[in-house]
Amino acid sequence: MEWIDLRSDTVTKPSKAMLDVMLTAPVGDDVFGEDPSVNALEAHAAKLFSKEAALFCPSGTMTNQIAIKVHTQPGDELLCDVNSHIYNYEGGGISFNSGVQARLLHGNEGKLSPELIENNINGTYDWLTKTSLVSLENTVNRAGGSFYTLAQTQAIQKLCREKHLALHLDGARIFNALAETGESTFEIGKSFDSISICLSKGLGAPVGSLLLGDKEFIRKARRVRKVFGGGMRQAGVLAAAGLYALNNNVSRLKEDHQKAKLISEELKLVSFVEQVLPVYTNIIIFHLKKERVSGDVFEFKLKEKGIRVSAFGKDTIRMVTHLDFTDTMLNKTLEVLRGLDK
Ligand SMILES: *Cc1c(COP(=O)(O)O)cnc(C)c1O
Repeated sequence: MEWIDLRSDTVTKPSKAMLDVMLTAPVGDDVFGEDPSVNALEAHAAKLFSKEAALFCPSGTMTNQIAIKVHTQPGDELLCDVNSHIYNYEGGGISFNSGVQARLLHGNEGKLSPELIENNINGTYDWLTKTSLVSLENTVNRAGGSFYTLAQTQAIQKLCREKHLALHLDGARIFNALAETGESTFEIGKSFDSISICLSKGLGAPVGSLLLGDKEFIRKARRVRKVFGGGMRQAGVLAAAGLYALNNNVSRLKEDHQKAKLISEELKLVSFVEQVLPVYTNIIIFHLKKERVSGDVFEFKLKEKGIRVSAFGKDTIRMVTHLDFTDTMLNKTLEVLRGLDK
């Protein structure tokens, strides 16, 4: 049986066309800076986001953690939303890798505002922790894929410049945000000091993330990547998949969003669903009626019907649409959801 897998957009597998470009990719030793495919991917991504340079890494966790390390000194504080991936899902890396503490802000659906940031910047007394970095997430994973507009990020950038704070973007799903706002990668790139983008989520590459920034930042980042054990050798096989993903799988992302909306409409009709959070992009998060069914049981019920979802807390479920979730799978999913009350 072929699973309908909605646990994450990381479950996509490389297509035949992607595998073909991987097979014929020119490669070299990337630790020596000699892999033509890695160099081509880095140059392409940097240009796309109007940055001077880029660094190809094994994961988005690594690109975020390298950025934090380069932007801070041990003992500093960074500001991020309480829901952010860098805080919740990177194994405590902020403190482990950088000796930095996080001040968790309660944004609006995972999004920070200039006011909220400004109210949490420490003064310069010796006894106060030095605030040195702000990290935004776009789209916000734990808030149903909500997104910032360019104007909102530019306002935050202006504040960060005034206050001499670095500004990082965890843009694991930045292309999903841009598919909705219609804004350009070029402008978004200019509004951050560093950007992390994932190639292995909605874009369908098997492995890889990119860190983007100016030349000096990426020079330091390369060093940290080596320290973290992320220096890869003939990584061009993977980079070729990444380049293919950027060239072919960006323009279709809106389809995933439309499918997610249809699923959320159907879920609203299911009697034991308490609340479906607004769906902004490709992430659907909903709460179950505690007295009717727990998250684990719901997950199991769907699994019996060939659909995999992830329990996101006790009574909360997350579903994520993606490249390998076809129209046929969508129809089957809607049908199963319709049948749940029977
Ligand atoms: C997936 C993801 C990452 C990176 O995760 P890896 O699995 O390490 O590639 C970072 N931030 C967000 C918001 C994500 O969803």
